[in-house]
Amino acid sequence: MTEERDLWKETLARLDNVRSYLEINKGVYEYLSHPQRVITVSLPIEMENGEVRVFTGYRSQYNDARGPFKGGFRYHKMVTENEVIALSAMMTLKCAVVNIPFGGSKGGVIVDVTNKTKRELKRLTRMYTLALINDIGPEKDIPAPDVNTNGETMSWMMDTFSKAKGYNVPAVVTGKPISLGGSLGRTEATGNGVVMVSAEAMKHLKMDPKKTRVAVQGFGNVGSHAAMFYNRLGCKVVAVTDSHGGVYNPDGLNVDAAIKYAQQNKGLKGYTEKGAEPMDNEKIFGLDVEIMAPCAIENVITKDNADSIKAKIIAEGANGPVTADADPILNEKKIFILPDILANAGGVTVSYFEWVQGLQQHYWSLEEVNSKLDRIMKASFKDTLDYSKKYKTDMRMAAQILAVDRVMKAARDKGIFF
Ligand code: GLU
Repeated sequence: MTEERDLWKETLARLDNVRSYLEINKGVYEYLSHPQRVITVSLPIEMENGEVRVFTGYRSQYNDARGPFKGGFRYHKMVTENEVIALSAMMTLKCAVVNIPFGGSKGGVIVDVTNKTKRELKRLTRMYTLALINDIGPEKDIPAPDVNTNGETMSWMMDTFSKAKGYNVPAVVTGKPISLGGSLGRTEATGNGVVMVSAEAMKHLKMDPKKTRVAVQGFGNVGSHAAMFYNRLGCKVVAVTDSHGGVYNPDGLNVDAAIKYAQQNKGLKGYTEKGAEPMDNEKIFGLDVEIMAPCAIENVITKDNADSIKAKIIAEGANGPVTADADPILNEKKIFILPDILANAGGVTVSYFEWVQGLQQHYWSLEEVNSKLDRIMKASFKDTLDYSKKYKTDMRMAAQILAVDRVMKAARDKGIFF
């Protein structure tokens, strides 16, 4: 990982590139390159040993031209304000690519979760929610899970928000457990969406899933479900890794066994099976596979390892896994990139379904959720591909142009500037 990488600067540079394809008025560009609001909060928490520690948290509400702010929040020791802003800009673009009526936001708290108890994290979540009590809400800004946060975190947030309001507000967060008004299919939605657009890419590139080998880097919620759906599609998942371990089996892994192991052991460390050899998170990128799916965090494919990639398709399950300086190397190698704002948009798409169900207090079947998701992912792939043909550019740039076009149209139709 390149420590100094500033995701926000890169996001702005990519946005700036859109200007060589799309005519963007200078003032509108200025508007698009600033977050509408960034909130910083200090969160005093009583730790298990009785000490009080103050954690810093952020919520960046980037743009709400197309609808309420929407985006997850993460707990990570490396969280920075700039990273959160960049991720909120990406959420704005992501919601526009899949054409759901949301703007974009993101939150984060600087905290190392590895040495925190569940009770400490619960207090932290409740404090964070209270600190943002006037800034979030079903019509304003709707948080969801992200790195190191999950359905349980969402339950705490929803409960704190609901208690403060005096009534149940299921639509304030998405990614909740089903018992509290969550949507069927939400947990697996991001991984499912990654594979849905990969299937479209394979059709486009005339690749047979049965002859397609896949490597999945990152084996949390996104990576493990992506591996499961690749497997169901008939692909051969040959390698999976996480930050602590991983395995490679050229004959194909037993994905279900790996998932079960990772759930029981909080990761892949120590997992092995017949015919498999250990694989680490870095070496996986050089493997001889057709699809490489980075599904963990940003900055993993850089100018230093881009040249070693042999895959035909990179499916970005994570947000920002490829650095800007790696892009030209991958493009030169004619690798077909399914960019994050398209590839991992299945999560926020089912979040949208969950929000709609919560507002209506009317819940859908899993088939309904998945068929609607499939329709949206297919349409978004096609829209992006059409833009890439129209503007004669790669899929990443095409997705950016498509998204900026939609955000600009909404802003203009509102008459914000002229
Ligand atoms: N954190 C996920 C993302 O980056 C999901 C966001 C959401 O569902 O609001 O897309």
